[in-house]
Amino acid sequence: MKHNLHWLIFVGMLSGIMVGLWINHSVVSSRIFEVLDLFGKTLFIGALKMLVAPLIFFSILTAITSLSNRQQLWSMGWKTLLFYLTTTSIAVAIGLFFVLTIRPGHWSNRNEIRDNWIEHRQQLHNNFSGTEAQVNEASHKTPLDIIRHTLEQTISNPFLALSETRSLGIIFFALILGAALIAVGKVAEPVLPVIQGINAAIMKLTTWIMLGSPFFIFCLVASLVGQLGAGVFQLLSGYIITIITGIAVHLVVLLAICYFMGRIPPWRFILAIQQAWMVAFATRSSAATLPVTISTVQDELGISAQTAEFVLPLGATINMDGTALYEGVAVIFLIQLFGGMPGVMIELTPVTTIIIFMTAVLASIGAAAVPNAGLVTMVLVANAVGLSVEYIPMIFAVDAFLDMFRTSTNVMGDMVGAVVIDKFEK
Ligand code: ASP
Repeated sequence: MKHNLHWLIFVGMLSGIMVGLWINHSVVSSRIFEVLDLFGKTLFIGALKMLVAPLIFFSILTAITSLSNRQQLWSMGWKTLLFYLTTTSIAVAIGLFFVLTIRPGHWSNRNEIRDNWIEHRQQLHNNFSGTEAQVNEASHKTPLDIIRHTLEQTISNPFLALSETRSLGIIFFALILGAALIAVGKVAEPVLPVIQGINAAIMKLTTWIMLGSPFFIFCLVASLVGQLGAGVFQLLSGYIITIITGIAVHLVVLLAICYFMGRIPPWRFILAIQQAWMVAFATRSSAATLPVTISTVQDELGISAQTAEFVLPLGATINMDGTALYEGVAVIFLIQLFGGMPGVMIELTPVTTIIIFMTAVLASIGAAAVPNAGLVTMVLVANAVGLSVEYIPMIFAVDAFLDMFRTSTNVMGDMVGAVVIDKFEK
């Protein structure tokens, strides 16, 4: 059944692309998107999101309370953080390499894009006013505001964090509660099987939801592809090619890491993770994919529950290789494209490039695991090098498309992390 499901999801995705292309080229009522989104977004993403907050809480708690001692927690904790920071930095370096060599912002259609920007500025602002409001809000934040905000998100009322699915707050509370449960010893022993039981039941719910995934993924993909604007794609082809090339190379790097450090051959890894990869691609949310990611690495790759339940919720929250790569490329592309216009530097200096490198890593860590979040935290990178945020809407129209590639890369990076940490711990 499980393997049939892989194929059915694949078929759902392909037929979604085809139907989406057909819708794109025909005159259809906008009702069709409402119906597709009702199944894809409201039902499927809604059901997965329903599980995310309790899953993060109970899986981290289960993992911590099954660790034999505090040393093991530290050992797994620092290895996970170091691993994720390293792969994210590699991703940004790859992105910067490609955007600086391909130079998509200097392609022959540069003037055409600039003219298009001036001409359609108002329309872009109108079409994406919701996202633009978030971008503008983010642009007024100082680094201190961001630190304060992160701390407020982390150390807060756990019930509020759970009800608003604030991953940092949930993870932090689960970590300290887990540590305290170990510390109090005997008196907490009756609670531990309860935690494990609830955790197992949430994983069961995931498998039930996934039974309908081929159809839901069909709806998600058909709706997205059906609404893509072909003209903008042509205009921004250099930018899109740069990001997808960077992501492809990063995937090869991840597969190599998985082979050399985790001893899993690339083909086996790819076959094993396809379900989680496709769900990430279609939902564009690492958080919504988390239940599937956890069950995939355990069932298909034989990773221990303890590692999966500790490493993956952390990964979904802070490890975003695809997002980091994208943020660096996007800011440099905009500087190449609009260089010399008001609020944009003319040339990139090595110092600016290093600042972009560092802020892209940070911004990806701060990005929420939801659709288009990377676009909003990109403002941090743009601000750091003085790029005026008024140019960012230029890339809004292709963001949902690129989000599919970066989210699936984020999730793949998390799973490689689980493989490697599991190997280390064993
Ligand atoms: N959608 C991405 C994720 O959930 C974040 C982003 O927008 O880059 O991982």
